Amino acid sequence: MATGKINVSVDNIFPLIKKFLYSDHEIFLRELISNATDATLKLKHLTSIGEAKVEYGDPKIEIKADKEGKKLHIIDQGLGMTEEEVKKYINEVAFSGAEEFLDKYKDAGKEAGIIGHFGLGFYSSFMVADKVEIITKSYKEEPAVHWSCDGSPEFSLQESDKKERGTEIILHISEDSTEFLEEGRISELLKKYNKFMPIPIKFGTKTETLPKPEGAKEEDPAPTKEVDNIINNPNPAWTKQPADLKDEDYKNFYRELYPMQFEEPLFHIHLNVDYPFNLTGILYFPKLTNDLSIQKDRIQLYQNQVYVTDNVEGIVPEFLTMLRGVIDSPDIPLNVSRSYLQADGAVKKISSYITRKVADKLNSLFKNNREEFEAKWNDIKIVIEYGMLSEEKFFEKADKFALYPTIDGKYYTFDELKEALKENQTDKDDKLVVLYASDKEAQHSYIEAAKAKGYEVLLMDSPIIAHLMQKLETSKENLSFARVDADHLDNLIKKEDTQISKLSDEEKEKLKTNLEEVITGKGYTIQMEAMDSDASPFIITEPEFMRRMKEMQQTGGGGMFGMGNMPEMYNLIVNTNHELVGEILNTKTAKKRERLINQSLDLARLSKGLLKGEELTKFIKRSYEMVK
Ligand code: ADP
Ligand code: MG
Repeated sequence: MATGKINVSVDNIFPLIKKFLYSDHEIFLRELISNATDATLKLKHLTSIGEAKVEYGDPKIEIKADKEGKKLHIIDQGLGMTEEEVKKYINEVAFSGAEEFLDKYKDAGKEAGIIGHFGLGFYSSFMVADKVEIITKSYKEEPAVHWSCDGSPEFSLQESDKKERGTEIILHISEDSTEFLEEGRISELLKKYNKFMPIPIKFGTKTETLPKPEGAKEEDPAPTKEVDNIINNPNPAWTKQPADLKDEDYKNFYRELYPMQFEEPLFHIHLNVDYPFNLTGILYFPKLTNDLSIQKDRIQLYQNQVYVTDNVEGIVPEFLTMLRGVIDSPDIPLNVSRSYLQADGAVKKISSYITRKVADKLNSLFKNNREEFEAKWNDIKIVIEYGMLSEEKFFEKADKFALYPTIDGKYYTFDELKEALKENQTDKDDKLVVLYASDKEAQHSYIEAAKAKGYEVLLMDSPIIAHLMQKLETSKENLSFARVDADHLDNLIKKEDTQISKLSDEEKEKLKTNLEEVITGKGYTIQMEAMDSDASPFIITEPEFMRRMKEMQQTGGGGMFGMGNMPEMYNLIVNTNHELVGEILNTKTAKKRERLINQSLDLARLSKGLLKGEELTKFIKRSYEMVK
């Protein structure tokens, strides 16, 4: 038997390892299963090229918990190690790796969570074990060896009588880590980290029901059989070729990923590149609601089928973090901080590749089946609009397929919209005026008024739409958006006034004075307009600019305006051709005039949704008095 001292300068490395990675102890199992997987895949490769003249067979990895003995076993049928290899890979290389690691990150306690991923490999087993044994037999014709280490840098190495090829790691679980002997906890970890690893992983057995033999009676119980309980799917959909998968396979895989999710995804995007970086994966567009915050962190990041994290910030562009699915890439550096990650060249390329693939997929859906694309628009628009706002490259592509629905359910692309509006909806400077509503119900009377004049009204109701309109107005020439209740439509659109006012200038002056006497101090700018006699007498509008600023402050991005307390400002448009307005002008008693003005103003406020609470109650009471 040989004993020796592992080649490290730190006297006792293990307490340090424990302390550093405190938050992430559980990763030890992933590391050991990764090693077992590597060892098995290496053997597969060696046998396939004839290097190893042994039967590859049907190897699996077994996890066994021995609660009484306080031991956890990880057993593989991979290529194993000779004595020389144990000395080299375990005593020297792995240890120096651990030492280097500690050296580098001594002061980075906070980031330990991230660094923990794929940092320590084999030695992470000392986070949960007082003593670790390796019993291993190489595929080469050499005796098996037994390595053992109790956490000090001293180890022992002796021959073993292990007959089968492969490696068994035995962890003597420490007092404070006994949770890792519990079946439930182990299952949880296996599901989290190893669900899609490429070699079958066995944890215990389960009972399987067999078909009844011929001639069995109705009441005879079906025969059963104990079989290995394999916890993983070694061939997940993203590792296959898109050509080999049907739509149903993608849906099934979605269900496998999110068993608690009952809604089907809208569509998927299969990612598959091997140059200039390696990346595979499947992204899904789920149905999204307007609450963006709860829908993030559903994409899972893997490296060679080993789960790493569900925080893909920095790797996937922000606007796509609302999608779901899997990405798998060995080229993403993981033991670095997030800010470093964002500056990394390979990661930047990955991020722009993903953006491009998503844009291309959307474009081909739009082109190949516009009807279906339109039907799904409402569920996908948030991602697309968000992407148009945040990624210039995406904006350029999405400009071809982003849709602008009208209130009546017609869908325009931007170019189509321009074409449709150019006759009828330009202002005096030939600028295109796009009218829109954000709420069909609340803005109903304004929508109807605009439609009556033959204008198209869009329905734009995303939470970030104010930002997108701003962006469109600055990146396109001669374009402005105006909500149907913003300013007076005829002022916005028509080049000249066509209606003739029934009132003289003198009468208008008098009316204005009358109105101001009653309404003064309420924050209205009064405008006289000659409109159709059957248009409303009073109309309240809110300047587009003011309202949009308020909205943008609510959804972020308005920070430059400071406090966020925008004053209330409205226009009161008075239709000088309306009969009631004539009556206001001609009323003899001041009292009656005041009543008419207040009642009309309240009606206008009511239709703008501004009349609430006590004022509304009073208004209703007053109205009943009048109809009595
Ligand atoms: P890494 O996996 O990054 O190389 P580890 O510390 O996890 O680092 O493992 C160190 C080395 O020990 C591996 O590269 C491998 O050569 C050897 N090794 C670890 N586990 C096994 C195993 N189950 N079978 C064969 N070799 C192994
Ligand atoms: Mg490893």
